[in-house]
Amino acid sequence: MNEVKRRRAAIRAAQTAGLETLLVTHPADVHYLTGFTGSNAAVVLGSQKPVLFTDGRYTTQAKEQAVGLKVLVEQKPAFVAAVEHIVATGQNPCGFDPTLTTVSSLERMRKAVTAKERRGFFQPIEGLVARLREIKDEDEIARMRKAAKLGCSLFDVALEAIAKGGTEVSVAAEMEFAARKAGADAMSFETIVASGPRSALPHGKASKAKLPKRGFVTLDFGVVLDGYCSDMTRTVFLGKAKQRERDVYHSVLEAQQAAVAMVRAGVTCGEVDEAARSVLRNAGLDGYFSHSTGHGVGLEIHEGPRVASKQEQVLEPGMVITIEPGVYIAGEFGVRIEDMVLVTKTGGEVLTSASPKSWMDWIEF
Ligand code: ZN
Ligand code: ZN
Repeated sequence: MNEVKRRRAAIRAAQTAGLETLLVTHPADVHYLTGFTGSNAAVVLGSQKPVLFTDGRYTTQAKEQAVGLKVLVEQKPAFVAAVEHIVATGQNPCGFDPTLTTVSSLERMRKAVTAKERRGFFQPIEGLVARLREIKDEDEIARMRKAAKLGCSLFDVALEAIAKGGTEVSVAAEMEFAARKAGADAMSFETIVASGPRSALPHGKASKAKLPKRGFVTLDFGVVLDGYCSDMTRTVFLGKAKQRERDVYHSVLEAQQAAVAMVRAGVTCGEVDEAARSVLRNAGLDGYFSHSTGHGVGLEIHEGPRVASKQEQVLEPGMVITIEPGVYIAGEFGVRIEDMVLVTKTGGEVLTSASPKSWMDWIEF
């Protein structure tokens, strides 16, 4: 069972850091380590049998999903019950993630420990589970392939919707309806349909704006399928484009493909970012590329690694990252192209390759 392996890896990492137990409360981390998908849980991992704490809404679900763990249903907050359990079983020091714990939660955690025992009881350890989650196992890769495939099918839906005309939000609605009908748990984020000058907004979520007769439409969308997110962007053109619009599109495509070609285990995230950025620099467009090249994706839409300028983190087989350079010329137009790429020993496998990127495939609107 994959969750058992994952828990073992988390315990090993915690012990290497000198911790007796690990307290995990972030829902995506809990999902990863136990299979439990409820919104309220705390997991205690250590040398003793792992325990999952949750509340009465999840009694049945937790017992079904969290196989191999002891499930305890509590009236008090799950993380408080978890800390009391750690105290009672003497499993300290306890690691917790300070980036995923609010100040008030930490205050309550501390109160669950007597003043005498409090010293050194809680040890902050950042991103321990997040780092494990960066490298997907076979089961996760299989799910991500399916999510990416469903994501790609929505681009066909979008093209049909665009051909009919209407508003940005009507295109998004058709995509989201198709996604749910095909079994998606949800969209992985609010669907972006940004047309005409709105395409220059990197996060222009679908508005009531009517699709223009002439201009770019940027579509950035994804589904959650079997827990895993897809994420992709395509930019299409309605009507006849001017030379400059074509040139910008082709520069972004060239940048995107250069970065995809750079993906391989052993290469740094900064090198992948630079591959995209240098193409846009040579085209005099890097000033309009206002974000990083990509991000990890998995149970959450944004996770590690960060594919950004000067990032020293090295790509490893099993990571799934996005490559999504863009050019945004305020008041005029924008172009972004994004694929999900699985890192392998020898290169990168584009998981969203079913949706075309070449201009000729959709220019005839
Ligand atoms: Zn995206
Ligand atoms: Zn993305």
